[in-house]
Amino acid sequence: MSKKKASAYMIFVSEWQSRSGETNIDKAVKMAAKDWEALDDRAKEEYKLEAKIRNSGLRGRVLDILPPAQQEIKERIGKKEAGIDDATRMTMIEDFCSRPLDEIVNTDFYVVNFNVAVKTKQNAYIPIEVGIVKFSLKEGIQDSYHEFIDGGKTPIGHGYEVKEHMERVHKLPLYDISEYPVTEMAATETQEEHVASLENSIAAFNAFVQAERLPVPEGTDTKRKYVQPLFTLPDLDGLGLTQTSGCLKRMATEVEQVGFYENYEVLDLTYLMFCLYKRVVGKARPMALCMDDFYRVIHSYEPNTNCEYHDTTDTPHCALSRSYRFSYVFLDVLIPVFHIEVTPAHRPKPNPKVEECFLAPMEPRYQVASSSRSRINGRNWSEL
Ligand SMILES: [Zn+2]
Repeated sequence: MSKKKASAYMIFVSEWQSRSGETNIDKAVKMAAKDWEALDDRAKEEYKLEAKIRNSGLRGRVLDILPPAQQEIKERIGKKEAGIDDATRMTMIEDFCSRPLDEIVNTDFYVVNFNVAVKTKQNAYIPIEVGIVKFSLKEGIQDSYHEFIDGGKTPIGHGYEVKEHMERVHKLPLYDISEYPVTEMAATETQEEHVASLENSIAAFNAFVQAERLPVPEGTDTKRKYVQPLFTLPDLDGLGLTQTSGCLKRMATEVEQVGFYENYEVLDLTYLMFCLYKRVVGKARPMALCMDDFYRVIHSYEPNTNCEYHDTTDTPHCALSRSYRFSYVFLDVLIPVFHIEVTPAHRPKPNPKVEECFLAPMEPRYQVASSSRSRINGRNWSEL
């Protein structure tokens, strides 16, 4: 007997089963019919495409059956990703850190974090919240930007992951999976609205980020001469550089504006800290120590850094809050090193619950004996 072929409807039914809990396939096939009929044409097309992919044996090589416009986008993205690798990104940071100190302390940095609905089986990140903080060593934190991003409809086969991720991490009620594909909050109903909403998000993002462009080192295999740097942490717990970059890519491809993805380069904030420290002090501060500072604050709670929505929830995973806390840690470590005068813009706002937070147990991510004290809550500058 030959292998059974996937059909668009049966893929829908199996998803419907996982949502409804109906285990009897015959019943499910009948009961899901009404929901199937309610889907719009585009949603049905997606199931048909999914069936085509499964039957072609091309899983993981979807490129071959993409429409021509999508192929072109894929090629441009491939070129971008092949052109600048990790070593090049490190060189860009090192080059920056060799500039005159005067220039360094006045440079604006942008720390970016996203929350996603899910990372799909094809490694696409679906962004739903972004938080950006702008600061310089001299002036401290100057501005921030926060937005919920339209996630569109729940990607095929990911309903439960979305729900699980929402409940466990960011608590953003963007999808109501019991009424799939009805969406709430920032998510729109039609593909046209979805694209329009993402275009607005991209425009607002671009308007906020005015980072000084960094030159791409000579000899790098790319046509780009400059990129705008964005900073975030290395990958941990599914967050970090890969996710941030993946979110930019997703937004760019959804609206077919690859330039949005090409324009930015997401760089490692811990490596920037490492290089700046070395530049001024003359000796290296262990990378493990730089990472430890940042990762500890992921698990501490600072209400004054949350977006309005997350201020009402019990989670440390607000995208804006992460950007704020990373920025504060960065400043906390480097301000004394650069001998810069501390202003209120360099420190978190007073928090009535600070004692409570301070006493909350925090699990260390790494065992680094010399850094066991908290850096985010009130400390004495002379300690360093
Ligand atoms: Zn938030």
